[in-house]
Amino acid sequence: MRCSRCREQAVINLRAHRLALCEEHFVERFLEVVERAIRRYSLMRRSSRVLVAVSGGKDSLALWDALTELGYRADGLYIDLGIRRQDYSRISREKAERFAEQRGLELRVFSVQEEYGLSMPELRRGSREVCSVCGIVKRHVMNRVALEGGYHVLATGHNLDDEASVLLSNLLRWNTELAARQAPRVEAWHEKLRPKVKPLCLLTEKETATYALVRGIDYVSELECPFSAGATSIALKEALNRIEEHSPGTKLYFYTQFLKHRRIFRSEKPAKRECRSCGFPSAGELCSFCRLLLKSRLRGEKRDN
Ligand code: SF4
Ligand SMILES: [Zn+2]
Ligand SMILES: [Zn+2]
Repeated sequence: MRCSRCREQAVINLRAHRLALCEEHFVERFLEVVERAIRRYSLMRRSSRVLVAVSGGKDSLALWDALTELGYRADGLYIDLGIRRQDYSRISREKAERFAEQRGLELRVFSVQEEYGLSMPELRRGSREVCSVCGIVKRHVMNRVALEGGYHVLATGHNLDDEASVLLSNLLRWNTELAARQAPRVEAWHEKLRPKVKPLCLLTEKETATYALVRGIDYVSELECPFSAGATSIALKEALNRIEEHSPGTKLYFYTQFLKHRRIFRSEKPAKRECRSCGFPSAGELCSFCRLLLKSRLRGEKRDN
């Protein structure tokens, strides 16, 4: 297979675009697509201070690398959730730290255990599903670090496969409220929040993996989060991949056409209350994160008595 642009050996065949590309032209195109998403969806300005949430995986590290290559001022945030199973948190933290060190980038490490005295798995004990608790913890920490660090925007490594599967999940349940809020840029609706952006939303998982490989990024490849097994999102991604195999380009069409028409979905404006414990926006008197913390501490006290 030869590169469609220079006839050198191709490293990837993008059937959705009828394009085969060599290493050099693939990287060039990858960066063009990231920049296109930034401009098309007004994700950030050249002067924005960006905080990239990095997990040690391919997507977030590829995003951090690409933003830096494009000349954006991007620092990283690694949230150490304290997942000890399979040494997951330690290994992924090391990958993020090594990446930053090798490139001379600034990485902020936030340990949930050190800060709150409890790890994420301890916070979820006896309560909700682990990924939903994890989401609450990560959102809270990202908002806090972005605010305290004076960042303008928070970036995450969600790729096209992630976005298309979330969209499919929302539509299968006709969850119009969530569909209305799904976007490459989610605006901040409170002064303590920062906009959240997804510059990789037009690139597939295959493209981010190839980019990471070609750019020599050492990421947690073998190891998945031990809590991810059996997640519905994996089944939805597989279903979309089967459709994509049959009709290349469907995933991109599904997502970009949704973005064109998403105004048909409406969501309620969130209430502008503030949590009486941490001061961040909240639907009730305490935000979901502080409720988790309180419950876990009460459980701990009961055990000690
Ligand atoms: S898969 Fe792991 S890291 Fe991802 S949300 Fe679930 S618990 Fe958190
Ligand atoms: Zn080429
Ligand atoms: Zn709170």
